[in-house]
Amino acid sequence: MKIPSFLTAICLAVAATLFVWKLDAQDEAKKLSVLIIDGQNNHKWKETTPVLVDALESCGKFSVEVSTSPGKNAESSAWDSWRPEFGKYDAVLTNYNGQMWPTEVRGSFIEYVKGGGALVVVHAANNSFGMWPEYNEMIGLGGWGGRNEKHGPYVYVKDGEVVRDETPGRGGNHGPQHEFVIEVVDPEHPITKGMPDRWLHAKDELYDMLRGPAKNMTVLATAMSQVTKRQEPMMFTIGYGEGRVFHTPMGHADYSMQCVGFYNTIQRGTEWAITGDVTLPLSENFPTTEAVSSVGAKGAE
Ligand code: ZN
Repeated sequence: MKIPSFLTAICLAVAATLFVWKLDAQDEAKKLSVLIIDGQNNHKWKETTPVLVDALESCGKFSVEVSTSPGKNAESSAWDSWRPEFGKYDAVLTNYNGQMWPTEVRGSFIEYVKGGGALVVVHAANNSFGMWPEYNEMIGLGGWGGRNEKHGPYVYVKDGEVVRDETPGRGGNHGPQHEFVIEVVDPEHPITKGMPDRWLHAKDELYDMLRGPAKNMTVLATAMSQVTKRQEPMMFTIGYGEGRVFHTPMGHADYSMQCVGFYNTIQRGTEWAITGDVTLPLSENFPTTEAVSSVGAKGAE
């Protein structure tokens, strides 16, 4: 018996839809999941979180969710119901600089990173929680938030060597924003491998005088501060328990983050924090020593 052609067509269409749907589901399942934390910051987090989401998702490797904390004047009941489930994600990226988290959230955060989680720290997230020792260990270096010599040394690079400077004084400082050159000091690390030795980063705030425990810390790249005249760490990794942390003090504003070099840095830093390796290539339009390269509104190419 001959099957009517329209039935055949419908069957084929359904089969094709199911096939594509299954492929999509497989692709999603293969993606690395990232949870971004925001909700409070002395920076414009409502503008920068979408750029961070795009930086991660545009390369096709990550799926991103955002957990927004209660605001500064929130009732305590709002905090009682904010319980990010860190353990459900391959990585946590913090774009948060604000009030201390509830004890229970802090406990589950420590447990997550210590137990082998992946943490990515961006710009003012390193201003957070100066009085939280475990957080300071995770992030390696931080600024402001009451930080001083009791929190650990200043760390910078001089003549190719990492200097741990115990000089007393406050942690955290910056000069006016400008474009600045990122200098790769560890070209063999998976995150920096293949990057030009020197590349021009888009207009940003160059943090200097960061200080902290700096335990199990590896500096990958620096920038010369016009304030301290030191090579200040701009990309570094920290081992915390079984967890891997990637920290970049870059990323003051949306226009700072929309640097192709920053996109690649976040993508590779996040992949490395999750897997310990990097498969993501650098973008073809990566910045050069002389020229910045911005992703524009459409995301990384
Ligand atoms: Zn800033």
